[in-house]
Amino acid sequence: MIQEFIRPEGVQEAMELIAEDRQAAFFAGGTCINHARCPQEVSRAISLEALGLDHITCTDTTVSIGATVTLQQLIDSPLIPRSLQQAAAGLYSRNVRNMATIGGNIAAGWKHALLTPVLAALEAQLLTGNGESIPILAYEGSSKLLITSVVLKTDQRYCSSSIYRRSSGSAPKVQVAVSCRTDMTDPLVIISGLHATVRSLKEFGPVFTAARSSSEPVPLILDALGTLDPIDEDIHCSRDFLRYTSARLIAEGIRSCAGGAR
Ligand SMILES: Cc1cc2nc3c(=O)[nH]c(=O)nc-3n(C[C@H](O)[C@H](O)[C@H](O)COP(=O)(O)OP(=O)(O)OC[C@H]3O[C@@H](n4cnc5c(N)ncnc54)[C@H](O)[C@@H]3O)c2cc1C
Repeated sequence: MIQEFIRPEGVQEAMELIAEDRQAAFFAGGTCINHARCPQEVSRAISLEALGLDHITCTDTTVSIGATVTLQQLIDSPLIPRSLQQAAAGLYSRNVRNMATIGGNIAAGWKHALLTPVLAALEAQLLTGNGESIPILAYEGSSKLLITSVVLKTDQRYCSSSIYRRSSGSAPKVQVAVSCRTDMTDPLVIISGLHATVRSLKEFGPVFTAARSSSEPVPLILDALGTLDPIDEDIHCSRDFLRYTSARLIAEGIRSCAGGAR
């Protein structure tokens, strides 16, 4: 239970406060920390509110998103790629989207984190409180390393993201993001929901090329997914169903990228 709420006014101060106490945690929107199922024991909340991390800025080729920008602000900003906006809209409640932040979504490290697959497909880099820049999939959830902003190169990739879920209010079962360079090379296929962590499918290039020019891409993609580690199944979705659904979503993503989706 949170017993102390501290509002540091600078990144350095926030990092020192978190290092002092094992039961301290950064507090951004609070939607995860205050969630009844939050696994974290937090007695001291270090608020990120006064750190000035709530801006979206851009250059000709990049967009930089402060860690405390909310999911609703992503949807409302004309600077944000459509694929990321669609992923943010996957959180069905506008009230929660008004509080939940991009930094919190990444750092919480949920198996079903809505934004991580599409950010990985867009090759997002995270800037951290100690001045480093790291690829998003290298960030370890709950590591207490402060994310200060997320940087995307906006001109280089087509990208599409889609979700399968059982109802609008339930957590996604499978989420897929597909991207490629604008000359259709260097495809990336990122999947969450099948394993404990978000996965980037390796060596998908030949399958991407074959599927792009095929009128029946799903069987080709299903074959490629056959080499994955055993998929987590549950009472609602068998392994075969999850594999087939993933193949359908990947096929859709490839088609959208070929059509120039951003
Ligand atoms: C009803 C409901 C439904 C939800 N559905 C989904 C869903 O479908 N998919 C999904 O992904 N999430 C879902 N969530 C979880 C949550 O809302 C999001 O993951 C949200 O983006 C978390 O952001 P936050 O700012 O509220 O994080 P917080 O709760 O403030 O923090 C979450 C974790 O991240 C850490 N943290 C926060 N910001 C930073 C930072 N900048 N640097 C380092 N660490 C940081 C905190 O210390 C904490 O460990 C849901 C939540 C609710 C209440």
